[in-house]
Amino acid sequence: MRKHSSLLLKISVGFVLGIIFGFAVGPFVSSTPLLADYVMPFIDLVGKIFLRLLMMLIVPLVFTSLVAGAASVGDARKLGRIGIKTLVLYLLTTAVAIVIGLVCGNLFQAGAGMNIPGDLQATAREAKPIVDVILDIFPSNPIASMVNANMLQIIIFAIFFGVACIIAGERGKRISDAFENIASVMYSLTHIVMLTAPYGVFALIAGTAAKFGLAILAPFAKVIAAVYIGCIIHAVAVYSFMVVVSCHRSPLWFFKGIQEAAITAFVTRSSSGTLPITLSNVRENFGISEGVSSFVLPLGATINMDGTALYQGVCALFVAQAFNVPLTLDMQIGIVATATLASIGTAGVPGAGLIMLTMVLTSVGLPIEGIALVAGIDVILDAARTCLNVIGDTAVCAVVATSEGEQLTV
Ligand code: ASP
Repeated sequence: MRKHSSLLLKISVGFVLGIIFGFAVGPFVSSTPLLADYVMPFIDLVGKIFLRLLMMLIVPLVFTSLVAGAASVGDARKLGRIGIKTLVLYLLTTAVAIVIGLVCGNLFQAGAGMNIPGDLQATAREAKPIVDVILDIFPSNPIASMVNANMLQIIIFAIFFGVACIIAGERGKRISDAFENIASVMYSLTHIVMLTAPYGVFALIAGTAAKFGLAILAPFAKVIAAVYIGCIIHAVAVYSFMVVVSCHRSPLWFFKGIQEAAITAFVTRSSSGTLPITLSNVRENFGISEGVSSFVLPLGATINMDGTALYQGVCALFVAQAFNVPLTLDMQIGIVATATLASIGTAGVPGAGLIMLTMVLTSVGLPIEGIALVAGIDVILDAARTCLNVIGDTAVCAVVATSEGEQLTV
């Protein structure tokens, strides 16, 4: 435990020092060759190595632990029950997040009175049609799914494989035991990678802070505030409520237990990249079983994006206000529906939510040129929404584990 909290302390120190360092050196980077040619590229390299180490873990960790988890549940009906509870909670929390986003967007009026030049270039790509999103869940070649790190396809194949291990009897048991062993080696590897987290966190946040500086915040202060405050309200109100009511634990216990995952999500801006740490946090700090966590969390990192949904609500309103498009109540209800779908379809990688914002804007008839307005500060918004995305997965995981009779550690 002591080892764990000293790592957490180091990660937090890395985070704070990174922000201070980034803001302090940012204004001098372009005029100082030493900074521009050596220091910042090296910091960038350290951040990128940390990201790669995290990405390296994901496919083998998720696949082996999900096969072992599905096989250990041992009962297809229980697996189905966990699945339904998880999906319902994911959808409900996402819808609440968008409503909070819309309320914040209405309150802050971030886009009101903005004078937008008419020649903005949209930087967005087309969002995928929903039928393709559904078809994409099913793998045609599981090896290709792993090569491409396609999480939903990996999840589907792993569950089928785990269930098949149960049906195959003694031989299947030997295979799922082997997967269990590989999964524990992958956890040990996760711990090794975590030792580099303080440096990786420092490097990533320092790079971002240096690049953006404080000056960028001013013109977009309201939209940034709306997203950050919305995320804090959602985390504090909705997740605390879930944890208190369903798990009978204090919000402090919950937020303390997932701090490492939250900080990592903030700096990496990737739910998928954070997944190894999210898994290790809920298992080690909450005592949640492999059967529940290895199903709920990878699925959440792929489809449950409360932060993204909230951000889409705020940004849709921001664009409407900036372009003086009056948004009626039924248009806002349309935003809730499309932003829920868009957030499900958003990949757990940096910046994906911005691309899916095009789908929301188009579906309610808002100009997609608005994307260009948000694009400049998207990194800052992405940090907060990814953090909320990951915290949301852990909250649902804790609720599902409790509802399955698991005793969460104190
Ligand atoms: N970066 C977010 C995530 O990984 C997705 C998004 O861009 O909204 O959860």
